[in-house]
Amino acid sequence: MDINSSNIEQIVRQVLDSMNGKTVQSSSSNGEIPKTAHVAMLTGLEKFEIKEYPMPTVGDDDILVRVEGCGVCGTDAHEFKRDPFSLIPVALGHEGTGEIVKMGKNVKVDSAGKPLNIGDKVVTCMIFKDNPDITMFDLNKQNVGGADVYGLLPDDDIHLNGWFSDYILVRGGSTVFNVSDLDLDSRILIEPCAVLVHAVERAKTTGILRFNSRVVVQGCGPIGLICIAVLRTMGIENIVAVDGEDKRLAFAKEMGANAVVNFKNHKGIEALADGVKDAFGGYLADFAFQCTGSPVAHSNIYKFIRNGGGLCELGFFINGGDATINPHFDICSKEITTVGSWVYTLRDYATTFDFLKRAKGIGLPIEKLITHKYPLEQINEALVTNLKMEGLKIAIVNK
Ligand SMILES: [Zn+2]
Repeated sequence: MDINSSNIEQIVRQVLDSMNGKTVQSSSSNGEIPKTAHVAMLTGLEKFEIKEYPMPTVGDDDILVRVEGCGVCGTDAHEFKRDPFSLIPVALGHEGTGEIVKMGKNVKVDSAGKPLNIGDKVVTCMIFKDNPDITMFDLNKQNVGGADVYGLLPDDDIHLNGWFSDYILVRGGSTVFNVSDLDLDSRILIEPCAVLVHAVERAKTTGILRFNSRVVVQGCGPIGLICIAVLRTMGIENIVAVDGEDKRLAFAKEMGANAVVNFKNHKGIEALADGVKDAFGGYLADFAFQCTGSPVAHSNIYKFIRNGGGLCELGFFINGGDATINPHFDICSKEITTVGSWVYTLRDYATTFDFLKRAKGIGLPIEKLITHKYPLEQINEALVTNLKMEGLKIAIVNK
């Protein structure tokens, strides 16, 4: 046996770890931590390859997580198709969750102060690096935009940087939350749900969104559907959903909309606005959420809102081009209050755990948002399914 200095270092570390009560074995389903990890690396456009890497050393502040599942996001689909962030080769997947199998001796609690132990289920949010001012309870309410997140990092020597993998190394300085009290499907949905919890928080700053408000939600993809669920858990019941697909509108009803409008049944914006008004029993909306990435949809939505009403625009995760509005008719004369919403803050992340429990509590079928599940080996198929706009949320789920 060839014992060189790095072997000795590893053996000494293992002995010290076991003396500290941190043994190398995990409580994962098969007991042992394997010697290698598998990562779905995007190595070219529309091409993931499953790469095998040595299991990294877990530093004093690090957490090794066995990945259970990860949602496929629109951002992943854009990277897969065009690599707009120039990240290739990259380990994608930022909507992931899994079980702690090993942690460094300095790791005691999560970002909310909850104890962390081997076997706990966790999710990560942003990674603090250059901005120590972003904290859990900061008053600036800074959102995650621009911060580093696992699944959108440049590749490095460790490689375990994304959740499309069987193991991920969560390094010191990352935010991590103990979500052991949520089931796997709920945990996979945390990240997209946080976007809507944040949007509704932004909407509330207008003072217009109230318990008995009439609210229109335009766009019934995952974002719009979750928006309806968040509103519903807040006690807002007068919700009209607008979309072009009857299947999605039927789902919007399951998620809590009490009326729906298919824009394909209305020729022109005046007729469509009348359709929305009819759905509210002869009133325009007090508040609107714009959840599509379509510039025309943005232009249209002002026509659904009453004088003095409010709008939250959250549909443009990427640049979808310019939208035309008439400032006189759409904003000034109606005195519309508009807020934009972008990703979420750490605080919203924690609120999302409560939202998911409450949504289930009132019987909303949140887990039905995950329409497709693929094993890691079929990640290319999963992304193709996402690009075809089939289904709603697509997830990679490990055995
Ligand atoms: Zn995402």
